[in-house]
Amino acid sequence: MRLIIMGPPGAGKGTQARYIAEHFGIPAISTGDIFRANVSQGTPLGVEAKRYMDAGEYVPDEITNRMVRNRIDEPDAKQGFLLDGYPRTLAQVEELDGMIKFTGHQLDAVLSVVVDKDEVVKRLLQRAQIEGRADDTEDVIRRRQEVYLEQTQPLIQVYGERDILVEVDGLGEVDEVTKRIFDALDVVPES
Ligand code: ADP
Repeated sequence: MRLIIMGPPGAGKGTQARYIAEHFGIPAISTGDIFRANVSQGTPLGVEAKRYMDAGEYVPDEITNRMVRNRIDEPDAKQGFLLDGYPRTLAQVEELDGMIKFTGHQLDAVLSVVVDKDEVVKRLLQRAQIEGRADDTEDVIRRRQEVYLEQTQPLIQVYGERDILVEVDGLGEVDEVTKRIFDALDVVPES
């Protein structure tokens, strides 16, 4: 199973990604989490990525692509994976296509978690108070939404044209959303 979960910042992708990955016995690969782990360990990748993340900008494709390529080469991802937070740009879509094609597999589905813009900004501001993430200040949250609309939203159409897009309503309780996702994925054939 090779899946992508997409949605604007604050859509609750990370939470849902963990449930889906566990269900299918595949790793959930979150580029945001990998970047944050590198930042807290002070690796060269982390130092480089932090500049962009703190401003709400995307880390350059070249850096992100290389990181994902290395991660999906790990043994635990051979049977499949769920990507959370990647791809986020058209260039990343192409790069991922190449990586998957190289292994002789295909992308099974792209889950798009659909949420209301005002609702997600509200959620992110709440999370900011609880977790204190450096990219959770109001200005940065707004910038992240803008960048998402400009660079990532267009990907939904791209995957829609390939007929692998599965849209799920992301509003409501976490387990309601999880149930919707599983119902929607039931109809997706595994490769
Ligand atoms: P969000 O909660 O906004 O969805 P993530 O936790 O997925 O954010 O990612 C946090 C930050 O990490 C992003 O704002 C961006 O700077 C960087 N990042 C994560 N994934 C990517 C990617 N695919 N391309 C470029 N930058 C990324």
